[in-house]
Amino acid sequence: MTLETNTKLYSLFHRIYTVDKKLAAGGQGSIYSLKDSPKQVAKIYAAEDAEKQRKQLQKLEKIQNIQHTLPENFIRIQDILTKPQIGYIMENVSALPSVLSKIYPAGPNEHKPADFQEWKIWFNKWGLEKRLLLGWRLAGAFRQLHQQNLTYGDLSASNVLIREVDGQINAAVIDIDNIYVAASGILPVLGTPGYMAPEVLEGQPIDPAAEDWSLAVLLFQLLRLGHPFRGSTVINAASEQLEADALAGKTQYVSDEDPALMPAEYVCTEKLKQLFYNTFAKYKNRPLARSSASDFEQACLEAYYNLIECPVCGNFHFPYVVPDTKHKQETGKDKNISICPWCQSQDGTVRYLRIFTACLGPNGAIRQIGSTSQQIILKKGLQNIDVHFIYPWKHTDQPFLQFNYTADSKRSAAANVCVFNPHNSNAQLYFNTPNGLQKTSIPADRSKAILLHSGNFIVCTDTIQTLAVENGGPVYTTATIIQYGRTEVC
Ligand SMILES: [Zn+2]
Repeated sequence: MTLETNTKLYSLFHRIYTVDKKLAAGGQGSIYSLKDSPKQVAKIYAAEDAEKQRKQLQKLEKIQNIQHTLPENFIRIQDILTKPQIGYIMENVSALPSVLSKIYPAGPNEHKPADFQEWKIWFNKWGLEKRLLLGWRLAGAFRQLHQQNLTYGDLSASNVLIREVDGQINAAVIDIDNIYVAASGILPVLGTPGYMAPEVLEGQPIDPAAEDWSLAVLLFQLLRLGHPFRGSTVINAASEQLEADALAGKTQYVSDEDPALMPAEYVCTEKLKQLFYNTFAKYKNRPLARSSASDFEQACLEAYYNLIECPVCGNFHFPYVVPDTKHKQETGKDKNISICPWCQSQDGTVRYLRIFTACLGPNGAIRQIGSTSQQIILKKGLQNIDVHFIYPWKHTDQPFLQFNYTADSKRSAAANVCVFNPHNSNAQLYFNTPNGLQKTSIPADRSKAILLHSGNFIVCTDTIQTLAVENGGPVYTTATIIQYGRTEVC
């Protein structure tokens, strides 16, 4: 059924909207543009009996009541439409591309182009940097949703849209009315083929662990441009049954090198590879052991921090270390170099920050360094300047490290290392060269720049929060330290 142009829609709050035209139709209902209101659209449910309509209205009201607690990524209900046309008013997002448009170059589920070179170029038109930022945001939204013990139920590449404003990337999830509200009398949606967890296909309801499977499929597609169970064996067999089995996760999990997909070593860190393997192979039938939205949120952000921007082709890649065969031929000695996997050119100098926990001795000298908790490869504006301004400061709801502009409009890196607070008068910041402690102690001051040389450490201490251990002898303390470095190979 299609509503005619000029059909009036009535809201619970006595507003009247006028239908312009039908924009799209889905399983649950249709989307209409509105006259005199280009920034909004109406989602109208297919006609149902009175009892079903009552439940639909009840559910919409429940979601409207809780939507302020949901992650901002879910497109909100702006108004509820009541009889005779049940539905709701929401933001018009028809201009935003879906994630699906970034996975298959030739449209939904079409296979990659025959020419690998062409495929790589297509991937990099919306490259790794953007893909990982989107993955981080999307996984974060679902982590928040699952923390409230809610599920969305129909996570797929078609239901996630991409908002890109001033270089900032975020995920917008449509159909907020999919969110399952217990005791609403309306059954949860079943999901989209290809994204449903094995236990859901066997009739189990969708819970956060089942939705983590859907999230893993989507993120896998975003990075490897294909489905985790639809490898070259399935594609070459051209069997409908095998295709259906693949979408149901019943075929073999594809390998990291499967030629039907983007090579894993180009587009995934070791951690991401492990998270995908855990979900799709190791713990396939153990929902609670699967990689969670929170695992993916962190892994995507860490992967983003480790990207290098290729000075030759401009594409982003992870450190990709190979033996330098030319050097070996000329000198007979082994040497490793880092190259860009997209264009094979050698990476130039890579600048990075490494964050550790360290044990400090009585005089503040570093006694022991723990393993790296985080590595951040400095990019873009930071590539061209030798002076870095680094201010550890506490800011918990931002990424672990973000780049800010200082007063003199040079870029700085600010880390939310939680043991440090620049506004705390007890906090001190001093740095330590590999040869020993430099006796300069600099009061924490965000307006003051610190010149760092390769190998410098910044030790972040806070006399209140730092743990001190006295064991019948010298007093040891722990602190977070940040090391700045420059290297040919990372
Ligand atoms: Zn390159």
